[in-house]
Amino acid sequence: MVEKVREFTLIDLENIKLFINGEWVTAASNSTFSLINPSTGETVAEIPRAGQKEAQQAIEAANKAFPQWAKLTAYDRADYLLKLRDLMLEHVEELASIMSIEMGKAYTEAVGEVKYASSFLSWYAEEGRRIYGETIPASATNKRLFVIKQPVGVIAAITPWNFPLAMMTRKLGPALAAGCTGVVKPASQSPLSALAFAKLVEKAGIPKGVVNIVAGATKEISDEIFENPIIKKISFTGSTEVGKTLVEKSAPQLKKLSLELGGHAPFIIFEDADLEKAAVGALASKFRNAGQTCVCANRIYVHETVKDEFIKIFVEKVKSLKVGNSLDSSVQIGPLVNEEGLKKVEEHVADAQEKGAVLLYGGKPYNENGYFYQPTVLDNVTKDMKIMTEETFGPVAPLTSFTRDDEVVFEANDTVYGLAAYLYTTNIDRAIRVTESLNFGVIGLNDAIPGVAQAPFGGMNHSGYGREGGHQGIRDYLEEKYISLSL
Ligand code: NAP
Repeated sequence: MVEKVREFTLIDLENIKLFINGEWVTAASNSTFSLINPSTGETVAEIPRAGQKEAQQAIEAANKAFPQWAKLTAYDRADYLLKLRDLMLEHVEELASIMSIEMGKAYTEAVGEVKYASSFLSWYAEEGRRIYGETIPASATNKRLFVIKQPVGVIAAITPWNFPLAMMTRKLGPALAAGCTGVVKPASQSPLSALAFAKLVEKAGIPKGVVNIVAGATKEISDEIFENPIIKKISFTGSTEVGKTLVEKSAPQLKKLSLELGGHAPFIIFEDADLEKAAVGALASKFRNAGQTCVCANRIYVHETVKDEFIKIFVEKVKSLKVGNSLDSSVQIGPLVNEEGLKKVEEHVADAQEKGAVLLYGGKPYNENGYFYQPTVLDNVTKDMKIMTEETFGPVAPLTSFTRDDEVVFEANDTVYGLAAYLYTTNIDRAIRVTESLNFGVIGLNDAIPGVAQAPFGGMNHSGYGREGGHQGIRDYLEEKYISLSL
């Protein structure tokens, strides 16, 4: 398995190019940056380093393509999107392997991400056909009032490395369906998935310039995106820290901005929960993508009367997780994305232990060439530990206990973030009461993996604003125009 998937047809690792105006190009500066496989520490490819010039070319190409693309019927755009979805599914293994070598996602999970990413294309192909306007009753007999919806224009998508394809299609799906064209700036750790996707855009026959991909000098590209008046909307998924700087950057031109940022999810297990189900859920939520997800369980609160029993079930499951090279399809925990990510996890675990956390399992880097860390369980964590307030972004499950519902709701909400929260209970009254009291945009009620294309996803407070997915996810790519007709 590890060997076979290196033969790619969508990209040539020896000769990576950017995708601008339907052409495969190098950077004018001729400079490149190295992409490191986090499973091995080896260089995977040299990526052309796009700068301000390439960003500008990409924006202008999208602008040129916009009128024709916007003029197509929603049905024609849907056909393109469905073709692109089919192509993604035809190339699922290759796309998964590419993702796996560039950012370390375990292969089987990467296959799941490709399918999930493709579902945004089919959902928005359909949703584009339902961009309805309005007629409004007039207050004068000679007037007729209407609202029509039109694409905002050229958009930019800035995406993170932890879900390289899904975060891109969650933005491009609605944008293209609405009639927008755009530029994607993928994370420097995951440009290959985006460029392989661009090959499929080409194969689907999507007109030149509708989709452009520029990776490289982050600041130069993003300055151009924020300063160029052609760009009408920017959708960003990434850290809260960067998100805040982008709010400032968007002010001079009042760019429409949506922000899908970090989180710190509480995972609450009540005494009446199905503990086996809760343990399976906690395992999936915490260790998916080696703990590098914005919605992963960051703080596991277990009712004190069932904590010992839960720990027994949970730790057995954690022990069974296989760590290793992400391309091995039997592996469940791949490496962390890079050395910095590994160091952060080590620092959080050391800080927790110094402050009194009890190590139940794991707790060390894994003995391989890449950036691996053992799946880890910590008990007796307390609020003064970094792990309880900052995103650890690693395979570490911190446990603590509680006694009363109001107490755990208070603790769960005591965070600047507001992205996802989980609760496990079989008591319907409690389920409703607690769900309504949690200040988070996504609630997993006896469900550890709530994200789907047809539902709105997004956060509150420092987790950002805007929603992606669902019928809500296309709104930001549309302007509403009010027309008053006097007869
Ligand atoms: P990040 O460092 O904020 O980077 C995200 C994207 O922004 C990358 O393309 C990055 O480019 C770019 N970027 C970095 N600095 C920038 C700047 N000053 N101006 C403009 N763009 C800039 O985040 P990450 O480490 O890739 O992703 C992990 C974070 O994303 C976590 O906090 C996670 O919780 C969050 N996330 C949120 C969601 C959600 O839906 N809410 C989903 C997934 C991830 P370079 O790679 O070139 O630096």
